[in-house]
Amino acid sequence: MSKVRHVLGISGGKDSAALAIYVKTKYPSINLEFYTCDTGKELDETYQLIKNLEIYLGIKIELLQGAQNSSEDPFDHFLKMYGGFLPSSQARWCTKKLKLEPFENYVGTDPVISYVGIRGDEEREGYISTKKNIQSIFPFRKNIWSQDVVQKMLSNQNIEQLIEMSSSIDFGKNQEKALLTITRKLDTSFTIDQKLNVLLDANVKAFNHLVFDYLKTTDYPLATEATFPLLENDEVLLRDDIFKILKESGVGVPAYYNKIDFEINGKKGEYARSRSGCFFCFFQQKIEWVWLYEQHKDLYLKAMEYEKDGYTWAQGESLEDIIKPERIEQIKEEYIKRMERKSKVKSPYLVDILDDAEGEGCAACFI
Ligand code: SF4
Repeated sequence: MSKVRHVLGISGGKDSAALAIYVKTKYPSINLEFYTCDTGKELDETYQLIKNLEIYLGIKIELLQGAQNSSEDPFDHFLKMYGGFLPSSQARWCTKKLKLEPFENYVGTDPVISYVGIRGDEEREGYISTKKNIQSIFPFRKNIWSQDVVQKMLSNQNIEQLIEMSSSIDFGKNQEKALLTITRKLDTSFTIDQKLNVLLDANVKAFNHLVFDYLKTTDYPLATEATFPLLENDEVLLRDDIFKILKESGVGVPAYYNKIDFEINGKKGEYARSRSGCFFCFFQQKIEWVWLYEQHKDLYLKAMEYEKDGYTWAQGESLEDIIKPERIEQIKEEYIKRMERKSKVKSPYLVDILDDAEGEGCAACFI
């Protein structure tokens, strides 16, 4: 089996940028490779963030592109291939062709550990590669392991094996509790999430060692590694920690997260963009489209050019309709009302207001 590669994808968003800084500085012994999948349609702020990271970390970030030999931007190349059919949340060919496939081609059949920046305050698992030779690790979470690993390991058929393995693992004062939990069968009154959480609460590092020992009995990429520094990781990083890492390192928070004041009919509001990704991404909220129109009009007009033959980026509404003065007014007013409802959130970043959309989309584009 070839040597395990450790790779970290930079999406252009805040979380993956912070993850690169975190893992590279906290675990320097890991021989990390960095990559980014370029759609050709990112905001300038994203390209700037990638440059800043390269300078700060002294690394090279591999630029991966779908349709590498095409004379067009990757997105435009595939749009033609799909007959002008714009991607949407139901037909997300863009993520597959522009993010996942270039990444999977890059790693080939090598065993790979892929580091993913989903935070400790997020519920989602993300839209990640499911190829067998790619194992995802989530360093910001209390549970650094992917769902499939946990499901396999904690299944009832492994109880005897785990009891034996746990005898050489030190859960400290919670040794007995851990053993009782491992012994208890999953059923309708004791779910896999409950079992996982009790074991993590008993001792995160000890649980990590148990998983690592279990993985040795599987064909996951980590099975061939003698050690894994993240077994000792019991930190949980939340959104504020991410902003702190970016600011303190000097890499900086991408400028599109900075809020900008606006006024409509005597009412004041603030808007920003909540995520990285293509400037025309269909996951953006109406207020983000208005932000794009008012802050990057050239890009908005380019996004409009793609709307042909009845295809639109936003559901049920064309970009031409969104920028009608009365519609902009309505979007801003509705948004101000929403902000007022969420006014208890004290954060300098509007991502905290727009966060209900943050979990949508894919790990490849927005983390
Ligand atoms: S950012 Fe949006 S439009 Fe671009 S590839 Fe990702 S999902 Fe598709």
